[in-house]
Amino acid sequence: MDGVKKKISILGATGSIGTQAAEVLSKVNKNFEIKALCGGDNIEKLRQEIKQLNPSVVCTKTAENAKILQAEFKNIEVLYGDEGLEAVASDKDNDMILVAVSGKIGLKPTLKAIENGIDIALANKETLVMAGDIVMKKAKECGISLLPVDSEHSAIHQCIKNIKEVEKLIITASGGPFRTKTIEEMHHATVEQTLAHPKWHMGKKITIDSATLMNKGLEVIEAHHLFNMPYEKIEVVVHPQSIVHSAVEYKDGSVIAQLGFPSMHIPIQYALCYPERVEGIESKGFDFIKAARLDFEKPDLEKFPALKLAYEAGKAGGTYPVCLNAANEEAVFAFLDGKISLGKIYEITKRMIDEHNNISNPSIDEIFEEDRKIREKTRLLFS
Ligand code: NDP
Ligand code: MG
Repeated sequence: MDGVKKKISILGATGSIGTQAAEVLSKVNKNFEIKALCGGDNIEKLRQEIKQLNPSVVCTKTAENAKILQAEFKNIEVLYGDEGLEAVASDKDNDMILVAVSGKIGLKPTLKAIENGIDIALANKETLVMAGDIVMKKAKECGISLLPVDSEHSAIHQCIKNIKEVEKLIITASGGPFRTKTIEEMHHATVEQTLAHPKWHMGKKITIDSATLMNKGLEVIEAHHLFNMPYEKIEVVVHPQSIVHSAVEYKDGSVIAQLGFPSMHIPIQYALCYPERVEGIESKGFDFIKAARLDFEKPDLEKFPALKLAYEAGKAGGTYPVCLNAANEEAVFAFLDGKISLGKIYEITKRMIDEHNNISNPSIDEIFEEDRKIREKTRLLFS
């Protein structure tokens, strides 16, 4: 273990990515100092992680929970709410912030961290879908490193040496629980069936998106911004085994892919430790014989039209991706609440896109205002 401590804070420490990041940080052969842990409503999980990782600052969603934790942990500074998240993200003493909250809440703290010259490990894909142009421009201006945590983008990051030599990016998709089901079966699937992802255990929102392939669409937009790659040069391939996490084709025809058994520990550790590679939870775990077979298929755009819609929204630019993200997220929540069928998520998102009045080159304020308006309009469809 080297002597220099890397100071890190986690936003969304109690979620699927945040919990796995805590596991990585407890086991990895590198010196980290945990500055802040931020959770939402799950204070029991946050309590466990405070004991495990010993942070100096903690942030919860509500003032009530902050009060409870402050009474228990007297030597820790306890913050709350969006302001708390932004204060954590603005603390220049951090070397890196892991942004692993879900939804639009990730965008403002990410911008704060960038403005304060702090490197970002970014799991929250909504940040780039909503404001990729602004975020990437700011990251460049402020000279910070923005490392992807999403497994496909981590794979691409690991495969790219010189972006100028790249011909195209190949993003893999497991195909989700409905890959072999009919359109009819998929459209009327229950919440439980939709949450039963064959390869990945993730938060509910992203698991539903993985079943409709909207997640892959959001990832195409994410890749476009992260790697400054035109949409025509980003291809999606269905790979049910989820062993090849994505690949890069170079101009000379050579293809470099990153492989591993499905686990978010590796991309999380890669981002947190970058540019070092050290021993961690998954070390010495791969076995080609056990992996045995790698299959690849073309995505079925008739069954998964959300993927096509995301390409269209991404190419159209402006606030179209904001509209796609907001309408889809509201429809996903309505599905999870039992208000609509799975098939309706696409119908609703498509309708919102068709009715959208685009703003090209939107400011951050315009992005948040559009996001608010689109969500309000989408919710009217369920009431
Ligand atoms: P989860 O739903 O499991 O976790 C979300 C986290 O955000 C939790 O810690 C939650 O707190 C916190 N949170 C939610 N709302 C608020 C709020 N208003 N204020 C403060 N904290 C809040 O999501 P995932 O971990 O699955 O995903 C997180 C992000 O990473 C998403 O953007 C997702 O797309 C992306 N991602 C996830 C992957 C995965 O494998 N899970 C893979 C690739 C990307 P609490 O639970 O305490 O309420
Ligand atoms: Mg992914």
